[in-house]
Amino acid sequence: MNTPLNNKLRLQGVGMTSQRTRERLVQRLVDQGISNIEVLDVLRHLPRHLFLDEALSHRAYEDTALPIGFGQTLSQPYIVARMTEILIAATSKRDKVLEIGTGSGYQTSVLAPFVGELYSVERIRPLQEKARQIIRQLKIHNVRFHHADGGFGWASQGPFDAILSAAAPARIPEDLKQQLAPNGVLIIPVGEQEQVLTMVVRKGDSDEFSEKILEPVKFVPLVQGVTR
Ligand code: SAH
Repeated sequence: MNTPLNNKLRLQGVGMTSQRTRERLVQRLVDQGISNIEVLDVLRHLPRHLFLDEALSHRAYEDTALPIGFGQTLSQPYIVARMTEILIAATSKRDKVLEIGTGSGYQTSVLAPFVGELYSVERIRPLQEKARQIIRQLKIHNVRFHHADGGFGWASQGPFDAILSAAAPARIPEDLKQQLAPNGVLIIPVGEQEQVLTMVVRKGDSDEFSEKILEPVKFVPLVQGVTR
């Protein structure tokens, strides 16, 4: 039931969603090599269970991807932490950052404290609306949402100091590269059956880019077009 007390308990996290359970998740991430203390701290305090349906809340602090409807998944905490720490290490300026694939809003909420303004694009309207509500509830105020095909970026708001994609295209979209600011960094899973996390960096203010493959990953595909 959605009584005020219930809501309060849900926000704080009780039982399987308690602080102790989160601590165990953070320890697991440390064991897997996540080393940015500030990122770990954000994951320690962010109530991941709020991004899931209540029936799945009890699994929120497992280090796995979980369903959020519409055939989409809430990303695994390890990869959220990893992409966030890679982005932080690769950028000195993060005034404007673009995220492709808001999904539940979990990655959005982890990234938001580390950037000036976060622009987040999602193609499935109901997911975006839900994410917007939770992010408001968590009092995160530096996120702007856009219902669109993120494969085209968000040209009117660019250029961006960094772009992070939570969905994998077969090839890196040219629009995303073009929307990078000087020395801007794009972190994106690329590929179909086999995917690799890839980092693209604009060389100064030139039209040249360097590309580096980071590690094998498994993301949902970047799909063209939008759904109502
Ligand atoms: N990081 C998210 C998980 C995202 S799953 C989380 O923590 O919850 C990937 C998301 O990308 C899905 O919500 C999917 O709808 C979205 N997506 C896929 N293709 C897209 C596109 N072309 N433009 C915008 N969003 C897209």
